[in-house]
Amino acid sequence: MMFCPKCKSLMLPKEDIFVCSKCGYEKKKKGKAVVVEKQVEKETVILEKKIDILPKTRIKCPKCEHNEASWILRQMRGSDEPESRFYTCTKCKHTWRED
Ligand SMILES: [Zn+2]
Ligand SMILES: [Zn+2]
Repeated sequence: MMFCPKCKSLMLPKEDIFVCSKCGYEKKKKGKAVVVEKQVEKETVILEKKIDILPKTRIKCPKCEHNEASWILRQMRGSDEPESRFYTCTKCKHTWRED
């Protein structure tokens, strides 16, 4: 429930604002969705920065056929397998594992 700070009447939700049913005072909703969007943006930026500092090699992307990808060595947790190389296409960000 939202009440008007001016006349204390009940405010009604309307799109992304609340509008007072009596005097017409408008107040912006505190949208949780906006906060989530900002967090996603930050994570995306961090991922892109990480990709930038990874070593790059000339290899053909199986998805877009771009010929450069960054790579990282990663060991699968809890397995006896040796480290395997993962490639990330510098163009379309497609990630695949070396055979
Ligand atoms: Zn009001
Ligand atoms: Zn690609």
